[in-house]
Amino acid sequence: IKMRHAQADDDEREFEKSLRPTRLSEYIGQERVTRNLAVFIRAARARREALDHVLLTGPPGLGKTTLSLIIANEMGAPVRSTSGPAIERPGDLAAILTNLQDGEILFIDEIHRLNPAIEEVLYPAMEDYQLDIVIGQGTAARTIKLDLPKFTLVGATTRAGLITAPLRGRFGIAFHLEFYNHDELELIVRRSAEILRVEIDREGAREIARRARGTPRIANRLLRRVRDYAEVEYDGRITGDVARDALNRMEVDTFGLDEMDRKLLLTIIEKFGGGPVGLGTLSASIHEEKDSIEEIIEPYLIQIGFLNRTPRGRMATPLAYKHFGIAPPQQRPS
Ligand code: ADP
Repeated sequence: IKMRHAQADDDEREFEKSLRPTRLSEYIGQERVTRNLAVFIRAARARREALDHVLLTGPPGLGKTTLSLIIANEMGAPVRSTSGPAIERPGDLAAILTNLQDGEILFIDEIHRLNPAIEEVLYPAMEDYQLDIVIGQGTAARTIKLDLPKFTLVGATTRAGLITAPLRGRFGIAFHLEFYNHDELELIVRRSAEILRVEIDREGAREIARRARGTPRIANRLLRRVRDYAEVEYDGRITGDVARDALNRMEVDTFGLDEMDRKLLLTIIEKFGGGPVGLGTLSASIHEEKDSIEEIIEPYLIQIGFLNRTPRGRMATPLAYKHFGIAPPQQRPS
């Protein structure tokens, strides 16, 4: 079973890779980000300098990894990818840094998970392209400085709140990625369908877009699964009806809500009479960290109008009640 999982993960990775846009002009949505980035890249190229360090924050599947590869492509530079948990000792990071080329992009995913000793190594590397190495121990310990190539660090995290201030301060460029709207997701689905050579009409793409939780990764995944249905049960074309039928049968929520979204909303509705309920209480009730509630779950629920943040706490909206087929509590006269 473990091997089957590994195989499925590999498939998924290959699938994602095949759908990744490689240029800024192919990257759909996030216009504020792409517009600014285009300027910074042009300026850096004109000066023949490395691009300033870039911090990308936002929920999973919104295109942070993709953007790091696009940056490398647009800079005409090689890229090396790793992640916070993969760098276990300061020496691991030192080895990576000393092997970089001038202008190379170093992508560190889940950068909030770097341990403090490793972060310390990163500070002078980011600021002055220098590596401080301590040799010897106790009174015999000495620091030697090594010059590093002028690289660009692209850091990504789903948990902006967990980035330490000194690390954050060393990124010259910082972007927060937002959930995609239905129009953008529809374009992403149609672009992916073209690459996969699946026939899909607007309504089919629209239906998938609506149920993708504002997330390109989920949109692409749904497309892949709907394609299976279309091929096996229909003539291979994805129309609105085919998409609806397939997605209903897979029990994909009509608003794209996932298990955590539903758990959070139903807890507010059923345990706390619709709210207001404080973040700490909510966190304890659903066994989820406060940061991930605030940074991953809530933004989408707020965007689709299912949740309100009020000074007294979180409240489920009438729209959320309607979605679950629960009658909202009678409004008290004020
Ligand atoms: P993250 O690193 O934020 O978790 P990824 O960069 O891995 O997300 O993106 C997940 C998938 O979504 C990839 O297959 C990518 O092709 C697709 N994707 C993400 N953003 C976009 C976009 N703006 N336009 C088109 N496809 C996108």
